[in-house]
Amino acid sequence: MFAMPMQPGFDLDSLLRFTPPHYVCERCFALLTDVPANGGYRCPVCDLAYVPTEEYPSACAYLAASGLALGYDDLMAHAQRMANIARRARGGLAGQTPDTTPMSALLEAMGSARHCIHFTTFGISAWFVGALKMAAQRIDVRGVISGIKRDEVYRELTTYANDAPRLQTRLFGQDSQWYPHQKIVVIDGLIAFKGSANLTDIGWRKAAHGREVVEVITDVAEVVELNNRFFSPVWVGFDQRAQHEAHSTASSNGR
Ligand SMILES: [Zn+2]
Repeated sequence: MFAMPMQPGFDLDSLLRFTPPHYVCERCFALLTDVPANGGYRCPVCDLAYVPTEEYPSACAYLAASGLALGYDDLMAHAQRMANIARRARGGLAGQTPDTTPMSALLEAMGSARHCIHFTTFGISAWFVGALKMAAQRIDVRGVISGIKRDEVYRELTTYANDAPRLQTRLFGQDSQWYPHQKIVVIDGLIAFKGSANLTDIGWRKAAHGREVVEVITDVAEVVELNNRFFSPVWVGFDQRAQHEAHSTASSNGR
């Protein structure tokens, strides 16, 4: 008798550790996992206080009314879809599923997003600006872009920002001392791509050949940590620290 190899099981207990973010902060767009059902709240990243009022008796009520809730008809189905993309992406990176490239996995994840995409990058290609503008027709896309030059990509992000008002960016020049080095793309607060590849088509195609590092993250706690550590503080610090050396394309609603 030969024992059949055991498939890895699923422990129901792990569901208790599945605490996806339910809201994003109005000011810094931190992913928030611990907003209480009742009462006020203070953002752990930017310290913004959500004080209960007569109109909004809880932080939850205010955030939901402001369109900052990350709600789903079927969270498990959405999470499974993202996990599936991540698995194929890892298989592609390992050479096991050559049909899935880092680029195709990123595009599929972006196309599957229901709420938001947050990213940081040093430089961005016109190709990616187009893809993000397309995504921003449906969902909120927010990005910190460093190393920006006054070229056609800059014009796409400023002069022609109205093509996609839901694409909001914080732009840092090449000489900025504030730009973040970590490159991340966080989708719906559930999945993230991190590594050395900037949002350029060349970078992501190099990643398929191991010349740029791209790692897919599906540990939700790590996804939240990446967003709240590398994206939100730079986003909220932009106005305070770097106004003199950078340019914002935030929309007129103040977000
Ligand atoms: Zn905040």
